[in-house]
Amino acid sequence: MDIQRHRAPSAGPGPGGSLRCLVLAPSGDDARLIGEVLAEAGISTAACADLDQLCAEVPLGAAAVVIAEEAVTTEAASALGGLITGDPVWSVLPFVLLSSADAARTIDVHSLFGVRGLVTVLQRPCATVTLITAVRSALYTRERQYEVRSLVDRLEGQAAELARSNDDLHRFAHAAAHDLQEPLRMIASYITLIQKRQGATFDERSREYMGFVVGGALRMSGLIKSLLQYAQVGQAKLDVTGFAADLAVGEALTNLKLAVEEADAVVTVDELPTVVADRTLVVELLQNLLTNAIKYRRGRPEIRISCQRDGDGHWIFAVADNGLGIPAEQRQRIFEAFHRAHSSHEPGFGIGLATCKRIAELHGGKIWVESTPDVGSTFFVSLPVEAAAQD
Ligand code: ADP
Repeated sequence: MDIQRHRAPSAGPGPGGSLRCLVLAPSGDDARLIGEVLAEAGISTAACADLDQLCAEVPLGAAAVVIAEEAVTTEAASALGGLITGDPVWSVLPFVLLSSADAARTIDVHSLFGVRGLVTVLQRPCATVTLITAVRSALYTRERQYEVRSLVDRLEGQAAELARSNDDLHRFAHAAAHDLQEPLRMIASYITLIQKRQGATFDERSREYMGFVVGGALRMSGLIKSLLQYAQVGQAKLDVTGFAADLAVGEALTNLKLAVEEADAVVTVDELPTVVADRTLVVELLQNLLTNAIKYRRGRPEIRISCQRDGDGHWIFAVADNGLGIPAEQRQRIFEAFHRAHSSHEPGFGIGLATCKRIAELHGGKIWVESTPDVGSTFFVSLPVEAAAQD
C-alpha cells in the first residue's frame, strides 16, 4: 500500500487512546501496515478481513473506519451505507477513505455515504502524518459526538426527574390541601357553635378576638381551595377537543355574572377562533384573567378579549383591561404561586396566574403581560393552533 512512512506526529493529549479504529484494506499486509502506523501514534486498531466482518464489528464499537477504496465493491456499497443510516441524529461514524490510484475504481463518495456521511478522502500515495492526522481528527469528531450524547442523556434524565418531582409536588399539595379541609371545617363549625351559645355573654374585646378567629378560618379555607385548584390542574390527562373560543368566554362570564354586575364592567369580545384545547381548563384560565381584570380596577372596568394568529402556529389571546396596571419589576413574578403585587387592594392568594401559566404550558403555550401602571394591563396567552400531543 502507498503509505509513505514519516515520523509520526507527536502524540499529545486528545483523541486516540481507547477509541477503536476499524481498518479494512485490500490485503492483510496493507491492514497490518496501517495498523502499525496508527499504533505508533497511540491509536488502537482492529483489522477486518472483509466488508462482512467490518459490518459485524461496527455495532460492537467503532470510533472511526479506515477503508481502502479497492475494498469497496459495488455490491458491498449498500451494506456500507446501511452502517450509517438509521443512527440517532447525534451519531455519524467517520470514515477515512484511502482512494485508489486506479481512476477507473473511483467511487462516488456522496452517493455511497449520503449527505450525512462524514468522510475524509486521502489520495494515495499518502504520508503517514496525513493518515494519522485524518484518523485523529475522525476519532476526535467521534469523541465529541459521544460527549454530546452523554450531555443529551443527562439533560433528558434531568428533565424526566424534574417532571416527576413536579408531579410529586402537585400530588403532595393536593393531598395536603385536601386533608387540611376537614380539621378546618371542624374549627369553623365549633366557632359558630360557641358564638351561638355564648356570643351574648362576650364583651367587646372577646367579640373582636372571635372576629379574628373567624376571619382567619375563612382566609385559610380560601387558601386551601385555591391550593387545591392549582394542584388539580394537569393531574388528569388533558381532555382536548375543538370548540369555539367565544363559548368558553361566555361560560367564564356566566360564572362571573355577579362580579361583572357588581363592578358594572363592560366586556367586549372580538371575533374569536375555534381552538383545540381542554375546554374546562381554558374556561378556568379566562375566568382567572377576567376576575383579575375586575378585581384590580380603577373605576369602571373596561375589558376587551381578542385573538390573533402569529406566524408560528399559535393563537395569541389577549385580555386587556383599564385597571391599576402592574409595576415593571413585578411582571414576571406575578406568575409565581403566592406572589401578589397589590396585596393591600383586594383579597386573594396569588394562585390565579400561576394556575393560568400551568394551563397555558400544559397546552404547549405561554402567558405574559404588558402593562402600564395607572393605565391598564394586557395578558397574552398563546395556544398552539394544532393540539400538542400529551404523553
Ligand atoms: P391574586 O389575584 O389572588 O392575588 P393572581 O395570581 O391571580 O392572584 O395574581 C397575582 C398578582 O398579579 C395579583 O395579586 C395582582 O397584584 C397582579 N395582577 C393580576 N392581574 C392583574 C390585573 N389585571 N391588573 C393588575 N394587577 C394584576
